[in-house]
Amino acid sequence: MTASSSITTRFAPSPTGFLHIGGARTALFSYLYAKRHGGKFLLRIEDTDIERSTQEAVDAIFEGMDWLGLKSDFEPIYQTQRFDRYKTVIAQMLEAGTAYHCYCTRDELDQMRNEQMARKEKPRYDGRWRPEPGKTLPPPPDGVPPVVRFRNPAEGQVVIDDLIKGQIVFDNRELDDLIIARADGTPTYNFCVVIDDWDMGITQVIRGDDHVNNTPRQINIFKALGAPTPQYAHVSMILGSDGSKLSKRHGALGVMEYRAMGFLPEAMLNYLVRLGWSHGDQELFTREEMINLFDFRNVSSSASRFDMEKAYWVNHQYLKTADVAVVAPEFEWHLRRMGLDLANGPRIEDVILAQRERCRTLLEMAEKSHFLYDELSGYNEKDAAKHLTADAAEILDALVEALSSLLEWTPEAVHQAVHGVAEARQLGLGKVAQPIRVAVVGMAVSPPIDQTLVLLGRTRTLERLTAAAAYIRNRS
Ligand code: GLU
Repeated sequence: MTASSSITTRFAPSPTGFLHIGGARTALFSYLYAKRHGGKFLLRIEDTDIERSTQEAVDAIFEGMDWLGLKSDFEPIYQTQRFDRYKTVIAQMLEAGTAYHCYCTRDELDQMRNEQMARKEKPRYDGRWRPEPGKTLPPPPDGVPPVVRFRNPAEGQVVIDDLIKGQIVFDNRELDDLIIARADGTPTYNFCVVIDDWDMGITQVIRGDDHVNNTPRQINIFKALGAPTPQYAHVSMILGSDGSKLSKRHGALGVMEYRAMGFLPEAMLNYLVRLGWSHGDQELFTREEMINLFDFRNVSSSASRFDMEKAYWVNHQYLKTADVAVVAPEFEWHLRRMGLDLANGPRIEDVILAQRERCRTLLEMAEKSHFLYDELSGYNEKDAAKHLTADAAEILDALVEALSSLLEWTPEAVHQAVHGVAEARQLGLGKVAQPIRVAVVGMAVSPPIDQTLVLLGRTRTLERLTAAAAYIRNRS
């Protein structure tokens, strides 16, 4: 890693919706590439489509990027704040002859198109306003505001040495003269991207491969401006697990929805980095490892498939091994979201340690820990029918007695007490533990019974055991 490299990448979302999985992966690849090379990672908001861009979407993108910890090295750039700059460059290009005014009306363009289609030709601008040596242009018609077109090279090829897809060659004859400013003077998308990438000093453009066809046009504009052309890396699509287009059903959700589903941000990054990138058969990477190892040589040029089960698996690996202090704030977010009062239960770090083996997500963990922070709203019907049987009432009474007299409320002491009650009745531990679980948790699943009771605390344990015994007696 070089300390002061000039490598600069960017993530350039259009704020028309939340930060979705595909965008987040593109952002991650751009971030990793920059960090790997000691460079800078920038954020640009492509908000020139004023109809479709919203402030909520901008906020949602920032929120997603923040949650994932993909920090931009400078303040974000907004395209809508750069119109003066675009206008200046367009004026310079008109002056230099790399762009020209075109006065074709909508009707003329439609007619051109229809005639070409009738001749079975590919519809394209025929260059009627394009200045050529020795060509006389018609006089500009009155009252028709012109668009500005880029004077694309008429011959030759554009060769892209894509960092992921390898060499891609376009013939200039296939590219017609692109409109770079509309009749009302507003610049168009492909033009703005070039000026931004130039001004921001972008050295590698990393983006979805739905932009491949824009790239030769953009490269030609760079060349016409005498600007250095960046390298390109076009990242392949993410498909659903069945190989079809990724839809909501497959997991094409906003990253914040993954937060709500109980994913840890680091696990999400780890899952995303493996969508297309590999390092041998390693599956789990710390952020530092991702930065040190990421390379486009190991990014697949074919589409990757989203696999929800694997995402859960990765999340569970993180939950099981992550520093509890890192997990705690995320877990707290879930508990608060459920309206729980944290002062009403045990330290959340202790809950995480007790629950994390058996929970794949923080949402699951929060649901399974609800009983620690709130009163029980009832018993799971099936579990109550199976475990809160007539015989269990006496066992629960005996437990209340044994647990009341404990000198300490520790897992060992609680274990001894439960064991004692089981042994005196020649019952297996399970026979005793299951009614306790249903009594204190409301259902027959919880961490080991001694841990469960220690987390719940003595007062609540005794209250719930007593209430369950009363429930059994009332019922019979
Ligand atoms: N705004 C474009 C998009 O959201 C990205 C363009 C680019 O990265 O060059 O697809």
